[in-house]
Amino acid sequence: MKTTNLGYPRIGSKRELKKSLEQYWSGKVSLETLLETAKSIRKENWLLQKEQGIDIIPSNDFSLYDQVLDLTTTLGCVPSRYTAIIENPAFTNHDLYFAMARGIQKDGIDITASEMTKWFDTNYHYLVPEFTKNQNFSLSGSKIVEEYKEALSLGIKTKPVILSPVSFLLCGKEKEKGFEKIDLLKELLPIYDIIIQELIDLEVEYIQFDEPFLATELSQKEQLAIQITYQRYAEKFPDLKIILANYFDCYGKNIDIALSLPVHTLQLDLVRCKLQLDDILSSKNLQAHTHLSLGIVDGRNIWKNNFEESLKLIQKAVNVIGSERVLIAPSCSLLHSPCDLDLENNPNNLSAEIKQWLAFAKQKVEEVVTLKQLANEENLEINLVKLQENRKAHKNKKTAISIHNPKVKERVKELTVEDSHRKNTFSVRQKIQNQTLQLPLFPTTTIGSFPQTKEVRSWRSNYKKRNISLSEYETLLEKETKETIQFQEEAGLDVLVHGEFERNDMVEYFGEQLNGFAFTQFGWVQSYGSRCVKPPIIYGDVSRENPMTVKWSSYAQSLTKKPVKGMLTGPVTILQWSFVRNDQARSKTATQIALAIRDEVVDLEKAGLQIIQIDEPAIREGLPLRKEDWKTYLNWAIKAFRISASGVKDETQIHTHMCYSEFNDIITDIADMDADVITIECSRSQMELLDVFAAFKYPNEIGPGVYDIHSPRVPEREEMVSLMQKATQYIPAEQLWINPDCGLKTRHWEETKKALVEMVASAKECRKQLITFA
Ligand code: GLN
Ligand code: ZN
Repeated sequence: MKTTNLGYPRIGSKRELKKSLEQYWSGKVSLETLLETAKSIRKENWLLQKEQGIDIIPSNDFSLYDQVLDLTTTLGCVPSRYTAIIENPAFTNHDLYFAMARGIQKDGIDITASEMTKWFDTNYHYLVPEFTKNQNFSLSGSKIVEEYKEALSLGIKTKPVILSPVSFLLCGKEKEKGFEKIDLLKELLPIYDIIIQELIDLEVEYIQFDEPFLATELSQKEQLAIQITYQRYAEKFPDLKIILANYFDCYGKNIDIALSLPVHTLQLDLVRCKLQLDDILSSKNLQAHTHLSLGIVDGRNIWKNNFEESLKLIQKAVNVIGSERVLIAPSCSLLHSPCDLDLENNPNNLSAEIKQWLAFAKQKVEEVVTLKQLANEENLEINLVKLQENRKAHKNKKTAISIHNPKVKERVKELTVEDSHRKNTFSVRQKIQNQTLQLPLFPTTTIGSFPQTKEVRSWRSNYKKRNISLSEYETLLEKETKETIQFQEEAGLDVLVHGEFERNDMVEYFGEQLNGFAFTQFGWVQSYGSRCVKPPIIYGDVSRENPMTVKWSSYAQSLTKKPVKGMLTGPVTILQWSFVRNDQARSKTATQIALAIRDEVVDLEKAGLQIIQIDEPAIREGLPLRKEDWKTYLNWAIKAFRISASGVKDETQIHTHMCYSEFNDIITDIADMDADVITIECSRSQMELLDVFAAFKYPNEIGPGVYDIHSPRVPEREEMVSLMQKATQYIPAEQLWINPDCGLKTRHWEETKKALVEMVASAKECRKQLITFA
């Protein structure tokens, strides 16, 4: 029995890579310094895994920015807009690499970055390869081989991790019509052959091909492409041991294809899908030589492994195929977990009680090794102690009063159908709301946050460091809020917001005030490039002790006669952007959060807020990988939103906000949320995404974003008028609002003020022109 790992976090346990990258970009350190940092992180990671006892250690899991971009450049798949950089001798390969990652504006060159999208259902974003009809590939980099050699020089023969040719093609985008990206396989395979041969010349034993698309629904053509690829490798490289890695779900309908492939090992994600082990072990298609890599330690959540349960699974596999054909592994790359729990040594931050239930990447590596040794009955003296401790932690967790709150569980059980329904239908509510709110046609509003300036952030950090008192801190926030309200009044906005200056992050802010949440100091996970997030940990039943936002919202409302919109983060988004407990269904946790938000909504109403927005930007990204599982998810997710929104009277107007532009396949569910108003990002798609709302005859009100908040550019009045003009072709004017795409927290005041003044002017223009619109 061997142990293996699929990938280790590369950002560094103290975010060394992030810091070095940002210093390099701002010209503070040289490329050499950056590359030195990178090299020492790789070394540290390899040695750590070796010392812990991992038998098959990954390489090429490191990246300066993104592993898909690494491969894209290695394969010479550079979009033509970067030609200016390639042809200019003043630019290096690294300039090209970072230009593709981040765009470039320098010396008269102005080229946009590659598009970024989520890596399956994780919060990691990769850079999308772009393909043209006559796409050429050529070997243009040696990263895979170089890193293999680098580890060799440390005495470690690694397993290079490479995204397979088929999955590489499938995660890219066709930039022209008239071809299918999968047809590029025949151009691509020869380039992969060269890389594999180079590795074989260096006596590589294992290569891990990541084939994550095997967890999704594949067409026949795509399945065939996978078969062709591994058949080719079996013929060309008969002695190479290929580990085929599928993760984030089971093989599903692709199982028989996977079992039939001539590969050495199949990796199974047994965290997401435990049951597949039985199916595979009993399948007549399981070949007599195939090894199984049991992905048993959760690679993307922070919970300690349950040794007893894992040992049962291992035993099951050993009983059928024998221990020589079993590998023990994490469920996926540890890229998605924070680095090291040992760094969390401030009990005020993370209590010893909670800490005993957690494992980060370093601890997960240890778990993998311990499980193998326990299964093999090696080192029993030490390992039986570990097993005892593990049992104890899990036993504690079952009954801990910090986790289990009978009142919360009771409340979830007692929920009725009425609790997820507003008192009356939208058409009834709309009439009442129109009467009480008296808003003009095309009401103007913003999405919530106003610029989080350096000052605002320094107040917060000074307050946290206790350099200023709570009352000093609040006085500063009050002043900022007051000025923001004044500005909005002067600008003539119709529905005002308080500006969210008190918030660090839209999930953390709520998590910090809710029971059942814990926070780490160093639990960073790479989101993209140098950007890391530190998700809260939901470890227990969620409940709300006190009102969380009422103070700031009612303060803002006290300053103006115009309606102020209360601002909340929705239950699905809070769930989606946290590490979620694994001892109960996600749907249950979502319902608990929904009830806490519901209480807040009701309190805001009581405090006199007539409009309340519940942001749900993460609903879409929670969709399961396979469409067949969408319905189940959407049912509980939409219901959670409705529970949070349905405690109020008809006259209270509920808004929601989402900021991505794909509603086609979930429009029924979006409508089912029954928010009185939905604001969406729209400006970049030039209102085209209203198409689906129009076709659906979406009955409630909509605020399509009229300006792109990702750019400092101030949009022109006419631009916004014509966007709205376009919008009225899809949606009746009485249903439309005017607002930016998203929150303004990343913008500067100067451009924000100008843009909003123009936006209000465009609304006036729209009202005037309405007759001509029709
Ligand atoms: N209310 C939040 C803000 O304005 C919404 C952010 C988001 O959609 N991600 O910042
Ligand atoms: Zn948004």
